[in-house]
Amino acid sequence: MKVLVINCGSSSLKYQLIDMTTEKPSAQGLVERIGLEGSILTQKSNGEKYIIEEPMPDHKKAIELVLGALVDKEHGVISSMSEISAVGHRVVHGGEAYADSVLIDENVMKALDDFIKLAPLHNPPNIIGINACKELMPNTPMVAVFDTAFHQTLPKHAYMYSLPYELYTDYGIRKYGFHGTSHKYVSSVAAEMLGKDLKDLRIITCHLGNGASLAAIKNGKCIDTTMGFTPLGGLAMGTRCGNVDPAIVTFLLKECKYSVEDLDTLMNKKSGVYGISGVSSDFRDIEAAAKEGNERAQLALDMFKYRVIQYTGSYTAIMGGVDAIVFTAGLGENGIEIREQLGNSFGFVGAKVDPEKNNVRGEARIISTDDSKVKLMVIPTNEELMIARDTKAIVEK
Ligand code: ADP
Repeated sequence: MKVLVINCGSSSLKYQLIDMTTEKPSAQGLVERIGLEGSILTQKSNGEKYIIEEPMPDHKKAIELVLGALVDKEHGVISSMSEISAVGHRVVHGGEAYADSVLIDENVMKALDDFIKLAPLHNPPNIIGINACKELMPNTPMVAVFDTAFHQTLPKHAYMYSLPYELYTDYGIRKYGFHGTSHKYVSSVAAEMLGKDLKDLRIITCHLGNGASLAAIKNGKCIDTTMGFTPLGGLAMGTRCGNVDPAIVTFLLKECKYSVEDLDTLMNKKSGVYGISGVSSDFRDIEAAAKEGNERAQLALDMFKYRVIQYTGSYTAIMGGVDAIVFTAGLGENGIEIREQLGNSFGFVGAKVDPEKNNVRGEARIISTDDSKVKLMVIPTNEELMIARDTKAIVEK
């Protein structure tokens, strides 16, 4: 069985065609600048690159070219579109309606429209991608896999904000959490690697990329996560501020005469380790600057780590202990030094890093010492595979 995984952004689209017998991509690609000048599709398969540069005024045209690239006689990997058994779509927001992935039908499409108000930047391009695929492949089953679904097991006392209750009932204002597909994937791989059942484990998963979040997963269920109503909450991130005193928002609006748009840009694009360091949003640049003595770069790193440690302590408390802490995403998979510093700061729960085992990038591995009470692990995330697995399971039902 072959599953096409589509992750549609406003002007870009990532895709993978995954062969479910090997669970490996036969082809993967990226379309950039959809609706803009200079649209380009880059596909990689069998170690070769295939580039298409032609106008792509909309997502339908982009997906048409993706399908064309996959069946291309010279550069393609399948002989006809009928080899694609199903399409799995990444959808950012599933609201409270979806605690799991779902086969897409008219009712699901209506619900996705409803969730636009909750994710105005992300859900519209996801919906456009689904509609374009439905037009081009009307008989192929499609599944929506939500970033929020895995966090729907949060207990109510964890997902509610202490605001008037009506804001929840009238507007759906609550914690939803994001990166759920990644947290779900790495926690299941962690259980496999430890030879244990997820139901017997308390895991903290640290998805540390440009966007960053932690999740507390007790007995296979997520019971808390750092992102909130939107992906702006929680940790300090590349350019996002994470949790701040909410009164700073009203102060900036009233006293500093910020507009709502300015404030949005400030908190999403100009804050986080970028805003503090003034150097970059990329941890590699910040680490390099800190080593050269840049104090604000060092401060940005210290603040980032401080918050990860705080949440780890908090999640250990709410789970009544922790068995494994997993690092994933760009920084989690590659940031050897940060991992060592974070790992050792979890000494209070009985974790000890083995520096030799930790000397690894992008490879699944236990990086704690043999006598470490808590297992520290690196597990490369694979959201596409998780989407493909869910898609296969649902269409086979
Ligand atoms: P996203 O998917 O959220 O855009 P990624 O998971 O790809 O982000 O993570 C990107 C981030 O990972 C980069 O901004 C960089 O800070 C960090 N990163 C990648 N490689 C390294 C490395 N070798 N050392 C430290 N940080 C790294």
